Amino acid sequence: MAGLENMGQSNRKMPARARMARFMETWLGAPLNLLEFTLHWVLVQPTRWIMRHLDGLSYKLEGTLLRKIISNTLLPFTLILSLWVGFKLVENGITSFTLLGFVLLPIVFGLYCAPFERLMPYSRNWLEGGNDTAVDIIMYFSGAFWSGISKLIVGALFIVGMVEFLEPYGHDYWPTHWNPVVQVFLFILIKDFFRYWFHRALHEVPFLWRIHAAHHSVERLYWLNGIRAHPLEIISQAIFYAIPLALVQPTAEIALVAIILQLSIGIFQHSNIDLNLGWWEYIFSIGDNHRYHHYPDKGVGDSNYGGEFIVWDILFGTFHKVKGERPHDRIGIGTAPEYPMTVAGLYLAPFLPNQKTVFAPSADETAEDAIEPAAGQPALHPAE
Ligand SMILES: [Zn+2]
Ligand SMILES: [Zn+2]
Repeated sequence: MAGLENMGQSNRKMPARARMARFMETWLGAPLNLLEFTLHWVLVQPTRWIMRHLDGLSYKLEGTLLRKIISNTLLPFTLILSLWVGFKLVENGITSFTLLGFVLLPIVFGLYCAPFERLMPYSRNWLEGGNDTAVDIIMYFSGAFWSGISKLIVGALFIVGMVEFLEPYGHDYWPTHWNPVVQVFLFILIKDFFRYWFHRALHEVPFLWRIHAAHHSVERLYWLNGIRAHPLEIISQAIFYAIPLALVQPTAEIALVAIILQLSIGIFQHSNIDLNLGWWEYIFSIGDNHRYHHYPDKGVGDSNYGGEFIVWDILFGTFHKVKGERPHDRIGIGTAPEYPMTVAGLYLAPFLPNQKTVFAPSADETAEDAIEPAAGQPALHPAE
């Protein structure tokens, strides 16, 4: 919540648009800011206090055989467990038991991953953020809300009609006689082809990058913040996916198991667990692959776009990995290091000249100054 004291500062120097943004983040965003503040102090900080008790054990684990065994086996074990849980949830079709499982799964993943992050962290600097976990909890629920809105928009754009028209063809083409596990991986691989090109466009088209910057505003990687995305990204992705996904539609059961597997791969993509992934990093978009993707230098960060698989990056020449190198932990946006860190600020940021609002740590800017891009990097706002 740093920055409230800066509110009155330099207001006269600011252009009208920045003043309006500051007003919106502070006052229209007030309920969200209050919710963040409450979540931070009532839920996040007490949880962090409990988790700190694992630090002693974490130091004791360093260099032990047990840590080595966990770092080699946690990923395959979790993937197999996710597939098993997924197929168990749908073995009697889609029931209320399946839906309950879906609601509870993110909580289960959190309970499962957060202690491992504390016990064997990739970076100790990433163990605790400021108010980021409270923001990410709200972004998780608001993301679900915007996904619902996306469905209405897809309907309003007549895409639903096309999807319904195409659906029988998708079912006809889908290899329902194949092994169900292979079907799950096939569905994710096809979906990831579209994710790859959409994600690449988010990085390479200047206005889309402004929207995607919300995801790259994170200053540390941990299990929950993979879900941080601007509503415009969620909505435009849903529209972009609607028709191709209708064409490759498997049964609802396979799609649900695929979603569970995607959730667990997504958690390993952002998690701060120090794993020995070896050749897994040439299959999935996890570990060092995604750490490079969050580098502040776009020369490195414009790589490894895969959502779950990394194979499309390898195929289309955007795979980045330096053998033997351990990626550093200074991540973020090189051209906008003081990106907003509240939900309201994240929502507003793409529309601001310099993508900063009231809660940016430093308020010495006039808010109309463009941030100087580092050498060789495009500005965040080339249109201005
Ligand atoms: Zn990205
Ligand atoms: Zn990410």
